[in-house]
Amino acid sequence: MCQTLIAQLQDCLGVDQVITDPATQAGYLADWRGRYHGRALAVVLPQSTAQVAEVVRLCVAANTPIVPQGGNTGLCGGATPDTSGRAVVVAMTRINRIRDVDARNFSITAEAGATLDDLKAAADSVDRLYPLTLGAGHRSTLGGTLATNAGGLQVLRYGMTRDLCLGLEVVLPDGTIWSKLGGLRKDNTGFDLKQWFIGAEGTLGLITAATMKLYPQASARALVWLDLPDTDSAVRAHERAQSVFAGSQTAAELISAPTLALVRHHLPEAALPAGVHWPPSPNHWALMIEVAAHDAAFLESLLDGWQRASAAQGCASGVIVTDTDGQQALWTIRKGLAEAQKREGISIKHDISLPISHIPAFVNDASAALEQRFPGIRIIVFGHIGDGNLHYNLSYADAAQNAVLLAQSDDAHQIVYEVVTRLGGSIAAEHGIGQLKTGWLEQHAPAGSLDLMRKLKDVLDPKGLMNPGKVLADRH
Ligand SMILES: Cc1cc2nc3c(=O)[nH]c(=O)nc-3n(C[C@H](O)[C@H](O)[C@H](O)COP(=O)(O)OP(=O)(O)OC[C@H]3O[C@@H](n4cnc5c(N)ncnc54)[C@H](O)[C@@H]3O)c2cc1C
Repeated sequence: MCQTLIAQLQDCLGVDQVITDPATQAGYLADWRGRYHGRALAVVLPQSTAQVAEVVRLCVAANTPIVPQGGNTGLCGGATPDTSGRAVVVAMTRINRIRDVDARNFSITAEAGATLDDLKAAADSVDRLYPLTLGAGHRSTLGGTLATNAGGLQVLRYGMTRDLCLGLEVVLPDGTIWSKLGGLRKDNTGFDLKQWFIGAEGTLGLITAATMKLYPQASARALVWLDLPDTDSAVRAHERAQSVFAGSQTAAELISAPTLALVRHHLPEAALPAGVHWPPSPNHWALMIEVAAHDAAFLESLLDGWQRASAAQGCASGVIVTDTDGQQALWTIRKGLAEAQKREGISIKHDISLPISHIPAFVNDASAALEQRFPGIRIIVFGHIGDGNLHYNLSYADAAQNAVLLAQSDDAHQIVYEVVTRLGGSIAAEHGIGQLKTGWLEQHAPAGSLDLMRKLKDVLDPKGLMNPGKVLADRH
């Protein structure tokens, strides 16, 4: 049966596009963090929507699980197959054409395997902006970012991937193609079906193409760097920034001093620009605020307003970085945080969101409870404070202690998620559930939500073959 399916896949795609050799498969079978390792019957690389549809039909006929994969930069193991060796991994990286850029409609239609950098370059070529910005933009794909509803560094101004999407083309779990591409911003013709697939992490179908929003390019930008004594001051500074900058504020990033210390250690080439200093103590926090405007004079008036508002409230207005190199240097540091954390070694990760006003209470309550249970634990915190989204990672500075900590990771998650839930937050802000958090979702999903998700899954994928064991714990 397996050999028959492999032969059929080879007939459909060509022998070169069906990888069965374990050494060549290896890069597709582990996640970016190296936390999950799976096995697969084959890794296939289709180049068109029709080929994806045929692959799905063949797999369904052979009762074979399908694992969609984009750039394989996801942080929850969603693109890694299980260890049974039964699944076919459908790598979408070769179905990657930009189909259309409509500058006048501020929209772009591209195939799922196009990377964020591809989309940005295509938009840039017609003086438009594709705003989704992540540290892994050279590898993260349009399909992967839709499937995880990725967020990133500019959500405050432009929204999550879901907010950017105007239309989708999807291969459903029975191999039929559903397509509703196009550049409409208003279209109330019944259910908004594309929303089912966005954030579903490949459990309801394979996204093959999408139409996404573009925006005007900003010609003038500035970054404000604030060194603050606590998260309460950071929330107040963000509130002040929102009132002064309003729609011109594109980012608000919070970084704890221990997180910056990791960057200094692991990425020593990432230097702060002149005038900006590393936080003086481990209890301090850096807040990076980005403002973008369409002309320099307007930007200047916004920054004047910021300085006046800060002075009126008796607060520091921070270092204002207006030169491109200085801004680039700060973004290099911000985008390097995940890499620095990876080089430091394994940690217990949380990607949580809270009402912004509750961030100080979360930081205080969670760190007190963790310190009591795990004395001396090091908490690495950074994230998109403007979206209420924190990355909250736990490890010991002494790596020898981390094996013991990992064995107790359920206790750590329990502590963090209890505080998150009590404060009205979410256990999964922007990275999704994957296989990392299925059990925690069972415990923390709002009443009725999982039942509804399962009903939808059963209707679309009655055999449970589409990315099994991801998002919803496997019952098949
Ligand atoms: C350095 C670094 C920084 C990051 N920063 C951020 C950040 O700031 N914000 C953020 O939100 N994320 C961030 N991420 C996480 C990651 O980049 C995103 O989750 C991204 O959306 C994954 O895209 P991908 O193409 O790599 O998808 P993959 O990792 O390949 O897959 C992710 C999930 O989507 C499914 N999938 C992939 N392609 C398709 C498709 N075509 N159709 C259906 N399902 C599909 C997979 O099955 C899997 O469940 C970061 C990751 C790294 C490594």
